Amino acid sequence: MVHGGAGALDNVNNDKEAVRYLEGIRSVLEHGRRILESGGSALETVEQCASLLEDDPVFNAGAGSVLNEDGKVEMDAAIMCGASLKGGAVAGITNIANPIQLARVILAESEHVMLIGSGAQRFADHWNFDFVPDHYFLTSDRVAQWEEAHRTHRMGLDHDDVELLDRMNSDKYGTVGAVARDSKGNLAAATSTGGIVNKRYGRVGDSPILGAGVYADNDTCAVSCTGFGEDFMRTALAKTLSDLIEFKTLDGPAAAREGIAYLARKVNGRGGFILVDKQGYCSAAYTTKKMIHGWIEHGGQTFCGF
Ligand code: ASP
Repeated sequence: MVHGGAGALDNVNNDKEAVRYLEGIRSVLEHGRRILESGGSALETVEQCASLLEDDPVFNAGAGSVLNEDGKVEMDAAIMCGASLKGGAVAGITNIANPIQLARVILAESEHVMLIGSGAQRFADHWNFDFVPDHYFLTSDRVAQWEEAHRTHRMGLDHDDVELLDRMNSDKYGTVGAVARDSKGNLAAATSTGGIVNKRYGRVGDSPILGAGVYADNDTCAVSCTGFGEDFMRTALAKTLSDLIEFKTLDGPAAAREGIAYLARKVNGRGGFILVDKQGYCSAAYTTKKMIHGWIEHGGQTFCGF
């Protein structure tokens, strides 16, 4: 399963942008299918799928990241392995084209779960990551979106560039995520984001926090969230979903229904998630009008939609 953000997405109805989003999601899903069919692991699959979404500038991650209050990119990402419960995460990083790949190296090669800012960049340098220049991220759309947010002193979520949002009326989020179950029954999850438009310098959202914006445990499910990050941190939503399966013995679809109701009830949270459970059943739920997402369940047909 993959997602490309939740929100109102009013601006993508009936126009070529909608097609563009769905094509992006579909091709990433097919790529994931090929990896899994050829025996690739869930971890490998979510890393590659998230990387492709990071490379696509229509999504708010990697190349398409939104800009902070200083007009700069600060990205967050995390990846988690359901077999080992190992995770790797980065927060507040710049100049790295694929933050999810750096998160994967942190998972595999460091004794830590999360590295931030210049420490993460130093680690990237040690592992021979290429550094891309600032202008790699500065598309004209992103600059225009940021200028409007900055001028009106508002913070917002990516997909709200039509009507820039504040805490009460924000309606669109653009993070990317992937979850997968491989033929051995291993689960994995990945989430990557530029965060929120015009966010404070140094703000970190839910995406790199294990248990908030991402979680995977072979005994329960793999989850990737998108939406107003603070709501997902306050409810530890990804881990809550896992706990509903672990301790309440719900299946994935039932946990998804309870989890989304919990997000709404507790904090009036805005956003959604994708979830694949240990049996390979796919669920998606959101409190926003829409969420760009898709899945291939048990190797069957590809579903893509809002
Ligand atoms: N959850 C992300 C954040 O708060 C934003 C998003 O999903 O678009 O940083």
